[in-house]
Amino acid sequence: MGARRFILLGPPGAGKGTQSALLVESLSIPQVSTGDLLRAARKAGTDLGRKAQLFMDQGHLVPDDLVLSLVEERLSRDDAKGGYILDGFPRNLAQADALDSRGIVVECVVNVDVPFEILVGRIAGRRVCQGCGATYHATNSPPRTEGVCDACSGSVGQRKDDDAAVVESRLKVYASETAPLIDFYKKRGILRDVNGLGSTESVYQAVLAALGS
Ligand code: AMP
Repeated sequence: MGARRFILLGPPGAGKGTQSALLVESLSIPQVSTGDLLRAARKAGTDLGRKAQLFMDQGHLVPDDLVLSLVEERLSRDDAKGGYILDGFPRNLAQADALDSRGIVVECVVNVDVPFEILVGRIAGRRVCQGCGATYHATNSPPRTEGVCDACSGSVGQRKDDDAAVVESRLKVYASETAPLIDFYKKRGILRDVNGLGSTESVYQAVLAALGS
């Protein structure tokens, strides 16, 4: 089979990261999360990371040229030759056009649908390991020891942009910039809607069915 390329689309807090991590295991292709790539660039203190910082902390999109250069570098690596799951990219029509203009053909776009009022609670409770990136929820699925990652014993805390004020801006940006991609890919006939409510496992089964895997 040729390279399998997918996009996971959905608002912040829809569970794209959680589902991508499961898909990586079963499909043996990497997850390419622009949010993770940007956070890694910040942590490494690169020029790009510094430029991205303010946009991220305010819940705005990082300028396309910065994001595209990161994505281009990531997709050129050997492990992406057999395909990948794009998580959090494209985030607007210009980024979707950039994929097209590079001749990147995506098999299917899974739109993980979660009502806005649920997202706020999910994001407010989200906790992330600063070491390995494992995600938890303060009340629904906390780590065994508060603040300590079950998997790597790293420090578990809240992402700066998961703060309530920033979340509001991220959700607005999603509605105005990213949601138009739903129609964009629907018209192309490759959009599959998945209900993002329910257990991780039940959503995962729905995602697999949407991918035809
Ligand atoms: P995420 O982890 O996907 O929620 O992304 C966190 C933040 O990184 C977003 O709020 C944006 O500031 C930035 N970001 C992630 N992906 C993109 C993208 N494709 N285009 C622009 N900004 C992005």
